[in-house]
This record gives sequence, structure tokens and C-alpha cells, in this order.
Amino acid sequence: MRLVLLGPPGAGKGTQAIRIAQWLQIPHVSTGDLLREHVERGSRLGVRARAYMDRGEYVPDDVVVRMVMDRLEEPDAQKGFILDGFPRTVPQAQALEDALADAGRPLEAVLKFTIDDDMAIKRLSNRWLCPCCKRTYNMEFMRPQDGSSCDDDGCQLTRRSDDDEITVRRRLDVYRLETEPLELFYWERGLLREVDAQARLDLVTERTKEALSDIAS
Ligand code: AMP
Repeated sequence: MRLVLLGPPGAGKGTQAIRIAQWLQIPHVSTGDLLREHVERGSRLGVRARAYMDRGEYVPDDVVVRMVMDRLEEPDAQKGFILDGFPRTVPQAQALEDALADAGRPLEAVLKFTIDDDMAIKRLSNRWLCPCCKRTYNMEFMRPQDGSSCDDDGCQLTRRSDDDEITVRRRLDVYRLETEPLELFYWERGLLREVDAQARLDLVTERTKEALSDIAS
């Protein structure tokens, strides 16, 4: 399946993407994760991207589009993929549509996760993550057993530098301005499906599977 996940920061796209990727046996492609890997490696792309990411702004389209297209050419993505955090602008969506049309493998669905701002801020300001396996925790409603390290592999949990409240508010504003127009873009193409993400994780997973039930194989 070729799938895009849309939704504001804090909607739980990454968490659901990991679960759905396992369910459908297709790779989860997160542009945020790919960019953070570049930042950690100190690559040229990473150095360029970092300033934007720290401010909660979008990295320029040309940089992100090239990075995603390269990733989608890898062998594991030939059987399908879940894009998480991409596209985020209309030019990115257009570039993706053109590339997939050229390859004869268009998108099959776009899931839009809905959540209100207060819940998004609450989730992100309590979010911690495992740098080793990327599992996320929430210090309010999904704490790790010992309070500070990953239940699965024992790595010390860290926070994302852009999860402080001021940057989260900026990210929500940028989402509304730049990414919300994609809802119309995909609705016009008959691809948009909505998932109410204002619920506990397992329930959102159920709703996500339900939203895909007619096309999941
Ligand atoms: P995320 O992990 O999806 O919340 O992304 C973290 C940050 O990476 C964003 O706030 C942006 O600065 C950058 N980023 C991720 N995906 C994109 C994209 N498709 N276009 C532009 N910037 C992006």
C-alpha cells in the first residue's frame, strides 16, 4: 500500500505509522527521522536543515523532496510505504504526485489525523523518546517502568529540542498555514480519509485500521 499520513504535530502520526507499517509489512518513512539522522551525522544536508528545525519551521522543499525520492527508490519501498511528515506543502505534494505517476504507482490513500491544539501541546510537552529504537513515551499517561529509560532496550530517554511549548506553538501555526491546504488537494483527488486521533493509542490504531480496511491486504 502507498499511504500518506497527515496531521498536526502531536497527532500521533509517528506512533501509528510504526504500528501500521508492522501490520502491512511496509516501510515507515518519516522525513523528521531522516532529517534528524542527517543532523546527528553532521552531513551538509543536516547542517542546512538544523536551523529550520530548531525554529519549528519547514526545511526547504527541494531538500526534502530529493531526500524522500531517494528513499522511495530503495528496494524495500517497492512494495509500498507509509509517508509520515511528507508531503507538508503543496509543492511537495505535487512533486510526489508527479514522481509516483511517472513510476505508475500512485498513492492509494491519505489519512488525516485530527486533534485539537491543547491536546497536541499536552502530548508533546510530555513526550520523551528512546534514541535507540525511537519508541515514544509520555510522562503523563505512558511512563517507562523505571521513569527514565526505555522498557525495551534500556537506553536513556531523551527529548526532542523542538518539543518545548513555544516551538510547538510555532509548529502548529506553520502546519495550519502550509500543510492544511493539502487536505483540499487530496480531497479533490478522492484520497482523503479522516481518523479522529483524540483518543488513547490503541483506539486510534483500531480506527486507523478500520479506515484502511477496504484497501488493506
Ligand atoms: P517531525 O518529526 O515530522 O515533527 O519533523 C520535525 C521537523 O523536521 C519539522 O518541524 C520540520 O522542520 C522538518 N521537516 C520534517 N518533514 C518535513 C517536510 N516534509 N518538509 C519540510 N520540513 C520538514
